[in-house]
Amino acid sequence: METARLKKLLSHQQDILSKIALGLPLSDVLEEICLSIEEVIDEKSARCSILTLVGDQLFHCAAPNIDDKYCKAINGVHIGPSSGSCGTAAFSGKRVIVQDIEVSPLWKDYKGLALSSGLKSCWSTPIISTQSQILGTFAIYHDKPKAPSVLELELIDYFVHFSSIALEKNAELLKGRQLLTDLEQSNEKFEAFTKVMPDLTLILSESGVYTDIYGSSDKLLYNSQKELMNKKVNDVMPKKDAKSIMAVIDKTLETNDVQVFEYELEINGQMMTFEGRTAPIEHYQSDKPFQRHIVWVARDVTVRKKAEKEVERLAFYDPLTGLPNRRMLNDKLTAYADKIKLTNKTGALLFLDLDNFKRINDSLGHSAGDEVLVELSNRLSSVIGKSDTLARAGGDEFIILLEYVGDDNEQAIIESEIVAKKLQSVFNEKFEVGKLAFQVTCSIGICLIDKINSITDNILKFADTAMYRSKIKRGNSCSFYDPELQTLLQNQAELETDIVRAISCDEFCAHFQPQINTQGKVVGAEALIRWNHPDKGLIAPNEFIPIAEQYGLIQTLQNTVLRDICILINELNGFDAIDESFNISINISQCQFNSVTLKNELLTVINGYGVKPSRVKLEITESMLSGDIESAIQQMEDLKRHGFVFSIDDFGTGYSCLTHLSSFPVKELKIDKSFIDKILDGGIGFSIVETIINLGKSLNISVVAEGVEKLEQLEMLKKIDVNAMQGYFLSKPMAHGDYLQWHKEHLKENT
Ligand code: C2E
Ligand code: CA
Ligand code: CA
Repeated sequence: METARLKKLLSHQQDILSKIALGLPLSDVLEEICLSIEEVIDEKSARCSILTLVGDQLFHCAAPNIDDKYCKAINGVHIGPSSGSCGTAAFSGKRVIVQDIEVSPLWKDYKGLALSSGLKSCWSTPIISTQSQILGTFAIYHDKPKAPSVLELELIDYFVHFSSIALEKNAELLKGRQLLTDLEQSNEKFEAFTKVMPDLTLILSESGVYTDIYGSSDKLLYNSQKELMNKKVNDVMPKKDAKSIMAVIDKTLETNDVQVFEYELEINGQMMTFEGRTAPIEHYQSDKPFQRHIVWVARDVTVRKKAEKEVERLAFYDPLTGLPNRRMLNDKLTAYADKIKLTNKTGALLFLDLDNFKRINDSLGHSAGDEVLVELSNRLSSVIGKSDTLARAGGDEFIILLEYVGDDNEQAIIESEIVAKKLQSVFNEKFEVGKLAFQVTCSIGICLIDKINSITDNILKFADTAMYRSKIKRGNSCSFYDPELQTLLQNQAELETDIVRAISCDEFCAHFQPQINTQGKVVGAEALIRWNHPDKGLIAPNEFIPIAEQYGLIQTLQNTVLRDICILINELNGFDAIDESFNISINISQCQFNSVTLKNELLTVINGYGVKPSRVKLEITESMLSGDIESAIQQMEDLKRHGFVFSIDDFGTGYSCLTHLSSFPVKELKIDKSFIDKILDGGIGFSIVETIINLGKSLNISVVAEGVEKLEQLEMLKKIDVNAMQGYFLSKPMAHGDYLQWHKEHLKENT
């Protein structure tokens, strides 16, 4: 190459490289390249074009001396095996020399376009990157058919090389720019995100420096962002808090893993609970490549925590008194019982039940009752020890768990009794509701807890049983659990279940014991209930009546007895075996006598059999008349109006109602067997019987002697003019059929 051309080339090279180095726009650099080659190449009609390859399309980059129309037309041309010089060169990666466009098969589709722009030959060289990637094409056009010289090809390669540098450099620049935009966008997103995020995000360095703080406001922060930024945790936080924060940072970095934890901080005078999550960040700041950081996300869970605590409170505490409830007591007792098994110590469970609480509730209303319970729980709390638990088990029941009362049972009994006395002492002072003040008492049951007695359910049951025992003692007392009482109650409960079963199996019936007057005439009979038990045989009433009364089953049993009475009356009537005055007595329990439904119950049954009420004598005891005299009289008068008659059973044994006797509509007195037993002794027995008989006479009430077992007794009673007699001497109580038989035979004998 001659010196002049070489000089030109060098100066062009300098221009181009400096433009690339200065980062001028790609089009400027490529245009410069085009103009340079056009100047140094021999043929003055040479025109240069540079296209870039994007995907499989070529796009216009620079062609300063080629027709705009042509440039536009080929912009976006698809590369292929016969797609003009450039499209084919880019496709094959090889230089394509077309000397005459007009005849070249590669230009078949494009030649019209080229020729009309005055382009007749085209030599195209692919621009290939250092990574062997095709970046575009570099082409020289002429306005006549022409083949390149060796020098021209050399020059082309020379400028293709510059084009490659420019394109590669530009691609890098674009990539960098893209990265920057991407980064900016992601930063923007992150900022928007942290603005709406309810959580607080902190970046802390390994030495505890607040490096970055993101969050909607400062309200979750210990101090304002400004105050904290670039400061150390140790310098801004109280020592205790700083220490635990540093411990979390250390642990996160040490384990190199996410940590989840809960912590509390006082912020603006308010205790707040946070759920924290931390994760390590290896390279956070490019200027401090060896400094490690952590990201700390703090979520305010104060409200949730409060709600959780509230839920727990509702589940384990009594809402009225704030005391632990039965559930919590159960849990505590179970845990305690497990513990005590391993020791020789003794604890105690106390059951406390108010004696007259129902009356307060009924007469003063529930809110008054509530006031008493709250006041009481305060008083009780003040007398129990720190390690003891006072719980409200529901209603007016309290349970106290004493974790330690002694090393042996003896000491435990003494100590727990002292506690029980203390508990009872809080009742000394009257309870006040509004202007009213009233005395309340309680019954306490105590069950000791030790190695042997350490089953939760049993302890609770035993303490309850002991409390029940105090109730039986008329309240206001304290009792220890007694295994015998337990058996008794257990038997009673079993009996109750059996009675219910027996009722449905119709195992109950009445037996009848006749009553005879001094002339030997049958004037009546007493119906006595019997239980025909399938396994145990005939069971006497004393064994089951009290339970039936206690469990509210007595009325059902009574209806059975009444049914049997009616059937018997109707049969006796049918045989013409009785006159108008004959009646059968039925024993009435206290609870029935008090009930307002008694009349209807009785009438329903007897009306069903068409039996007149005057045939039924109701036996009540003296004690039933000793309480509320007014309502007793009212009840009796009401029944009397319907035709029922009354007899006072076991007369002489109860609280004497002699003074009021004349006020009650009574038809008969039954002298208790205990007096008949002593009638022959010549002592007080005889005079009592005689007095009762005289009293009856004066009040026009007939007198019946019960439990007549001997002829001598009968003779004596005849002598003092008793009205009627009943007892084994005459007949034992008999089943329905036997009685009917007896009655008929007796009639025969006496006619
Ligand atoms: P009660 O009303 O004083 O009945 C008399 C009890 O004395 C009956 O016992 C009867 O069998 C028994 N008895 C009669 N004559 C003699 C005698 O000469 N010697 C002796 N040793 N005993 C005699 P029972 O049938 O065992 O009834 C016991 C108690 O059960 C009754 O005492 C009554 O209080 C109650 N009872 C019985 N049936 C009923 C009933 O249907 N309803 C209710 N509420 N209580 C009933
Ligand atoms: Ca009786
Ligand atoms: Ca009796």
